[in-house]
Amino acid sequence: MKQNASIQLARTAELSTLGELIRSQLPDVVHAGPSPQILQRQLSHLIEDGCLITARQDDRYHGVVALDLLDGRVTACYLDPALVDAATPRRLIQAAEKRALMFGLRKLACCIRKPALRFMRALGFEPDPDDSEAAQAILVTKDLENDAPAWIRDVFALHDQLGIPDDYGARHRLVMVADGRNLESIGFDVYDREQWLTPAAAAAWRKMHETAVRAGVELQVVSAFRSRKYQAGLIRAKLDKGQSIGRILSVSAAPGFSEHHSGRALDLKCPGEPPVEESFARTRAYRWLSANARYFGFHETFPQSNRHGIIWEPWHWCFRPGPFGNPQPLRTSS
Ligand SMILES: [Zn+2]
Repeated sequence: MKQNASIQLARTAELSTLGELIRSQLPDVVHAGPSPQILQRQLSHLIEDGCLITARQDDRYHGVVALDLLDGRVTACYLDPALVDAATPRRLIQAAEKRALMFGLRKLACCIRKPALRFMRALGFEPDPDDSEAAQAILVTKDLENDAPAWIRDVFALHDQLGIPDDYGARHRLVMVADGRNLESIGFDVYDREQWLTPAAAAAWRKMHETAVRAGVELQVVSAFRSRKYQAGLIRAKLDKGQSIGRILSVSAAPGFSEHHSGRALDLKCPGEPPVEESFARTRAYRWLSANARYFGFHETFPQSNRHGIIWEPWHWCFRPGPFGNPQPLRTSS
């Protein structure tokens, strides 16, 4: 009996293997098309966005799907007939649906060959009624909103109330963030408001703060956890003052898409600096963070010219423990 392949997001380390596989197995996709370098670049963007999903067992790929965020489509699907079991295509498409939903896509489309229509219908995709019966390639779509988890439907409802464009997440390559739970207090911010983080982020913050103090750097908290409801309130207040939604979204994240919802993000400043200003990047505190924050698991999410098209936010640091999240030798000088 075939064992289930595990469904996962492709990682950068798999780039060349996947490039080779796709070049050799999907000649219709790459027909007279991109050079190996361009294909690698396209794959590397898909991997960075978490839009390349694989069904893999050990080092063998049973299948791959790619999600095109801007078109809201599953654009390429590869299945190895020698390896794949009956459940894998369904699991791959469902993983793509889940991923699309995280980017705030309310519908997912897929251009399929006719023999796949029955399979896609069983997954809830329907062809456009105007499509010609005789066409060889059929565009099928599925509404993702109705079966979405309650918190995601809540994000959609807030977006409808505030007039946030449907493609906000896809355009900025940002995924939705659920409100964090079981948060713990990290004390008071520069405005004397109590602030909260997840226990792991709070512990890492305390350690980072202490180490910075020992290096002669004072880090101050401007903001930590913010719920999506609170974020929606901030945006509503700006709308009420007559600002356009486009202008507001150029400086504030749409509710449901701010890392602050997670309870893992911090906006920081240092004495003598105004809060949330780019000038923070010219301070010694910022230089210290750039050199050391990673050792505590904190990363700058929106550096200069970031791929999200979000303004440079040198004050915004998010706790994402990864290979650098574990204790490492520390650089104590700034
Ligand atoms: Zn922030």
